[in-house]
Amino acid sequence: MADEKALIPFEEQRVSFLGEAVTLALANDRVYVPLRPFCNALGLSWRGQFARVKRHPILKHEVKKVRISLAVDNRHSVATCIPEEFFWGWIITLSPSRVKPEHAPKLLWLRETGYRAMGQMYFEDKLKLPFDIDSVELRAEIEPMSLNKQRLQLAVKNQCRRAISIGLPATLTVEQWERSIESFDGLCAYCEERSYAVIEHFIPLSSPTSPGTTIGNCVPSCFSCNTQKGNRHPDDVPNILRSVIDRVREKLQYLEEPLPF
Ligand SMILES: [Zn+2]
Repeated sequence: MADEKALIPFEEQRVSFLGEAVTLALANDRVYVPLRPFCNALGLSWRGQFARVKRHPILKHEVKKVRISLAVDNRHSVATCIPEEFFWGWIITLSPSRVKPEHAPKLLWLRETGYRAMGQMYFEDKLKLPFDIDSVELRAEIEPMSLNKQRLQLAVKNQCRRAISIGLPATLTVEQWERSIESFDGLCAYCEERSYAVIEHFIPLSSPTSPGTTIGNCVPSCFSCNTQKGNRHPDDVPNILRSVIDRVREKLQYLEEPLPF
């Protein structure tokens, strides 16, 4: 991770945890959670946790540097983050004996919440007793999880969450999004050259006429085209050809039509 480039989030959300300011960062279709404010709030040694996360067999593959903007002076800092879906996995491994004594009950509550979430998955039949482990091919070291489907789910969930937070429709489903990616051959809808990397809102959520996160407004895009288009309305993008915009618009209209079965 040392010489790795920091991810640049395209959206940030500021929240608070036990009085510590936490900036959640949306980058690469995932929500990244900075670990240091949680350590500060719970009185955990940051140096100890940083070293621990970096040698953790699972988290070490997921930990990323993310450039977080600071509330003052337009400055930035680089934060060590893990994706939101791994947060509870980190929490349940923390020992209450390592936090400030007054925070131990809070950590226990957090851990219990994590365990209960796993219990809930058990009831929903998504997690079973591992009697089939004999037939599972185990690797010497656990590799990063195959996140394809999980990534799609997260990307859709995060983009729906963005729309909901500003009161716009959020009807895009994972199945619809898979169909959309397939219809663009897994490529960026704009350049048709690079692979799809992010969900791009054709009419940005910030536009007063935005339909929200819907199948007819979400376009698979590469990072480069996504950056070029930015937060602009498709009719106001200077650096993407009009014919390209029209082609994408037509495809979106087609995708919006209900399936014939
Ligand atoms: Zn592109």
